[in-house]
Amino acid sequence: MNTYITLDYELFFGKSGTVEKSIQEPTQKLLDVLNKYNAKAVFFVDIGYLIRCKELEVIYPNLKKDVLKVKNQIKTLVEQGHDIQLHIHSHWEDAYIENGEWKFPMEHYRLHSFTEQECVSIFKKYKNYLEEISGQEVVAFRAGGWCIQPFNKLKHAFLESGITIDSTVFKNGKNVHGSHFYNFENTPDTTEWNFTDDPCVPEDNGKFKEIPISSYRVSLLFFWKLIFYKKFGGKAHQQIGDGYAVKNGLGQKLRLLFKNSNTVVSIDGYKTSYLQKAYNHYKHKFTEQDNFVIIGHPKAFSDYSLVTLDKFLSENITTLNIRTFRKYEE
Ligand SMILES: [Zn+2]
Repeated sequence: MNTYITLDYELFFGKSGTVEKSIQEPTQKLLDVLNKYNAKAVFFVDIGYLIRCKELEVIYPNLKKDVLKVKNQIKTLVEQGHDIQLHIHSHWEDAYIENGEWKFPMEHYRLHSFTEQECVSIFKKYKNYLEEISGQEVVAFRAGGWCIQPFNKLKHAFLESGITIDSTVFKNGKNVHGSHFYNFENTPDTTEWNFTDDPCVPEDNGKFKEIPISSYRVSLLFFWKLIFYKKFGGKAHQQIGDGYAVKNGLGQKLRLLFKNSNTVVSIDGYKTSYLQKAYNHYKHKFTEQDNFVIIGHPKAFSDYSLVTLDKFLSENITTLNIRTFRKYEE
């Protein structure tokens, strides 16, 4: 199958963590695995972070070192043939530093808190800066926190900044509690489609292409296991990143723990345990020409997840046609 290994390359929202532990080190460990198979990945870079650092480095000169580290790693990724695309977490727009730590006001967590015109400016600013660093054209987008709906607010930003591919949606994903909001319940049962006004509604000659993240139905037991391994799984299950995410709203937590639900095919922590199962399911259900899109967050990797990915690649490399969105355009 056409396989995309996609990474959200970012710090944590909550307690940010450091560039070394939450970005550099786990990304390097991932590259060590990918290089064995000459596999190329797509990195969705949370570029708002670097832009905010740039704005604040006059007051906090230390930020310059962090920016340099991230920029250098992005350049290495490009040199090695990986793909750099756009990821937006708009909470960076008004993030500030207090007592040496990043603070994120919730007001702009969602891009939708800005006007349509402000969204256009943010997309252009972020995309231009990312292209300046990578030296490559950016064509694909993934929304931070899966917050892409309602899409009419972002449509012009896509059009005016030249984004043609989105990879945010995952079938039957839903979170209507807390600060996130997304509802992907009624998406097509295919692995790619065109759209214009709503990424969940296919349109034959749509202006944009949706390449959804693959998803998999898990029982409520799965989320209990996730919690168990995080707490009691020992060193192999410890997350490499040194920050933590903002907590899910209580409503969403209860939904995940007490109902079966759909989750993304992921290489984060214990979630990697069902990568092979999910792939078997996709192979059975779809054709060789269809897509299998894996998501990961380097900050959330563990030794367990990296070893499991390594095993997955080694056992399936002959049927995985690993590609990037840059290749897609060629
Ligand atoms: Zn993100």
